[in-house]
Amino acid sequence: MKSFKARAQTVITLVVIAVSAALTFYHISQEKRYISERTERASEGIRRTFESIVKDTEQQYRFRTYATLNAPGVMEAFKARDNETLYRLILPRYQALRVENPYLTIMQFHAADGHSILRVHMKAKYGDDIAARRPMLREIHAGHQLISGFEGGLGGIAFRVIVPIVDQGVYVGALEYGIDTGYFVKKIKNFAGSDSVMMIHKEWLGAADRDVYSQGIGQYYYSTILEERKDLLESFARQNPYLEPRHVQHEGKSFEINPLFLKDSKNRNVGIIISTHDVTGTNQNIIDTLIGSSILTLLLAALLWGLFEYAFRTLVGKLMLQEQYIDTILDSQKNLVIVTDGQEIIYANRAFFDYFHIDSLEWFRQKHQCVCAFFESSPAQEYLQPQIDGVTWTEYLIRHSEQENRVKMTMDGKTSIFTVHSKKMEYQGQIRHVVVFTDITNLNELATQDMLTKLANRFQFDKVLEHSIHLAIRHGNPLSMLLIDIDHFKDVNDRYGHLVGDEVLKTLAKILTVSVRKSDVVARWGGEELVILLPDSELASAVKLAELLRQKIEKHEFPSVGRVTCSIGVVQWREGENTDTLFHRADEKLYVAKEGGRNRVVS
Ligand code: GH3
Ligand code: MG
Ligand code: MG
Repeated sequence: MKSFKARAQTVITLVVIAVSAALTFYHISQEKRYISERTERASEGIRRTFESIVKDTEQQYRFRTYATLNAPGVMEAFKARDNETLYRLILPRYQALRVENPYLTIMQFHAADGHSILRVHMKAKYGDDIAARRPMLREIHAGHQLISGFEGGLGGIAFRVIVPIVDQGVYVGALEYGIDTGYFVKKIKNFAGSDSVMMIHKEWLGAADRDVYSQGIGQYYYSTILEERKDLLESFARQNPYLEPRHVQHEGKSFEINPLFLKDSKNRNVGIIISTHDVTGTNQNIIDTLIGSSILTLLLAALLWGLFEYAFRTLVGKLMLQEQYIDTILDSQKNLVIVTDGQEIIYANRAFFDYFHIDSLEWFRQKHQCVCAFFESSPAQEYLQPQIDGVTWTEYLIRHSEQENRVKMTMDGKTSIFTVHSKKMEYQGQIRHVVVFTDITNLNELATQDMLTKLANRFQFDKVLEHSIHLAIRHGNPLSMLLIDIDHFKDVNDRYGHLVGDEVLKTLAKILTVSVRKSDVVARWGGEELVILLPDSELASAVKLAELLRQKIEKHEFPSVGRVTCSIGVVQWREGENTDTLFHRADEKLYVAKEGGRNRVVS
């Protein structure tokens, strides 16, 4: 029961842990999927935002250009390459555009032949053939279409929008704007709330950049960066050489990292803006889930343990109590009680253990195949045997439950007689016999013995005589009987008292018992009449024995009383005689002996 309880509680605990682990695992995997989806959505959002900012910027300057060129005198001054006039007309507009977007650093008019007409941001320098050095300018002069893109320059990367200037359908030049990349960094930060850092592809580092952009991650170099960001980005680049959007764990925190590639007009990567978003707080969910589920697991396990404990105490506890009752009842019995499957003993009570002097059933089973190995037989075949009438003793008991079945066993030199009762139980196809052995040795003696002389009593003698007559009939062996009566016993009683008379009877019984064979049966027939049955004895030898006994008694000195004599009638059983007729004849012989003067044998 104890081990059952321990096993059940272990199973409960394991099941709770398994279920809880499965749920936690599921929950965390959902959470992780959610995080990765969120990362994907966030990076998609940032990328689209960046692209639309780029497009919007392009459009913005396209329309600013149209407005500028439509202003009175501008086109004329441009076509006339009048640097002074153009500057005067454009400066207020440039200043307004700078207010609108402080990151606007370059505004430059280019003639279709590749010469610079006006650098609004640096008025003094003009007239140089700049297209020769600038691929984007060469491109618009050739294609006459608006172009934009990030381009490395002398100092970092700038976003350039170059808008064609068309006069009455004829391409006459272009207006170029340069916007510092910081503009996009700031916009991205506004949109995503994230920190961003701009880096330049190593191939596009200008001469002036090389000192400033001295450290790099992969192909990209940055100027200033926070030390902690540097570690984060380096770890990101190590895990992810293609610099794709990622969720990165770093020093106990988690970040969403979204690289935005800065493309030139030919779609080449000239730089990158890497936006990092600290999302540590949102990951708290997983930790919360783990803590929550652990607490829940403990609570659930405790609850189930409690419930189980309660159920065990109320239900199993009752069963155990009942089992104890049964054990106690069985152990307090004097009867030997066993449960057997017909072959082996499965249970035995204390009395059984005591009777066979055993400590364990195991020991008994090893030594004895069956308790029935102890069953003794008798000539009269009145005791149960391991096999009777072709069935086992257990089966025999079931079939003959109406009769009294007895078993004779000897332990420590003491022979005992038991009555045996059996009940058959069947549970789930298993057959069990509950067998109870009741020791009736003393009862048996009481019923068959004469209390005074300890000889067999008349009842017992009758049974033995009857059985002996059967044997004599079957085997044809002779059978003789002596009927002995004390002479003038009444006088002994009268003279010495009843108690002395009793002592004479007891002594006489002893003399007879020690004088006959083991197979002879001495019994007290009545008051002072004794009887001896002599199996396998002819009349002649019976008479001889009778005479011997008569003399032995005659010679015996009885305390107080002195000499006592007896008369003996001797008969041999004749065919057709029963106990009554045999006794009748013995009585007649005795009577003759008495009549003949007593102290004699008559046959
Ligand atoms: P006889 O047989 O020689 O004719 O004389 P008797 O005196 O023995 O006559 P009887 O058989 O009629 O008497 C039997 C006597 O035995 C009567 C009774 O007092 C005595 N007696 C019978 N049973 C017991 C007994 O258990 N104890 C004692 N002390 N005496 C007994
Ligand atoms: Mg008598
Ligand atoms: Mg007598």
